[in-house]
Amino acid sequence: MDPIEGEFICRKCQKPLSINKIVVSKKGFALFEVQCSNKHAGKRKLNMSQQNEWMPSVIKHLYECPKCEANLTDLRQKTEKDMTLLLLNCPTHGKIKKSISTSFWYAMDALRKQLFQKPAYPSNYPAPYPPQTYPPGQYPPPQGYPPQGAPAPTYPPPSQPETFAPPPSTAQQPELPPQPTASSPTAAPLSPTGSDINAGDFCPACGEEITSGAKFCTNCGTELE
Ligand SMILES: [Zn+2]
Ligand SMILES: [Zn+2]
Ligand SMILES: [Zn+2]
Repeated sequence: MDPIEGEFICRKCQKPLSINKIVVSKKGFALFEVQCSNKHAGKRKLNMSQQNEWMPSVIKHLYECPKCEANLTDLRQKTEKDMTLLLLNCPTHGKIKKSISTSFWYAMDALRKQLFQKPAYPSNYPAPYPPQTYPPGQYPPPQGYPPQGAPAPTYPPPSQPETFAPPPSTAQQPELPPQPTASSPTAAPLSPTGSDINAGDFCPACGEEITSGAKFCTNCGTELE
């Protein structure tokens, strides 16, 4: 027989022992007050450093009716400082009270939920552990988002270059008309002196054609010199 399980068998009548009280000593031992259905009472002591090994058996015998060995169900707990009172229910005997140290209660309750309530989530995840479910067709986008084939993200259109390249320089620039020179006959109208006003000239004031040799504009009277 499992040595731990053997600790919780009555040595007088071989019946299972129900755990009625658990305290933790300063030396790190869990002290159990036990009783079988024949009312044989006893005490047990286990090292807290090995609690992972014996805790399942302890839980089993804690939730065992001391009168009929039936499984007890939780009604409620009441914590008062160092001790926590468990109010349990036996289907035959009704309410059963047990008391355990609060620190032990927390350690035991965490493990008990793992062992006996068969959580659907891995024990190393905090409950609840809702699996991420998505309705059909609404799966999260793959990491390679956007998917291939999708239009590329829109960016602002490339801005027009602010400076245009100069037009390709033509080897043959259009030839400018030759600059008129002072000696050129066509330079006569541009002459600042006015002394060269001749036939075909125009009045500088009104633009009227001037008769060759006239001293005054026949239109506006400007002296033509
Ligand atoms: Zn007994
Ligand atoms: Zn009972
Ligand atoms: Zn004139």
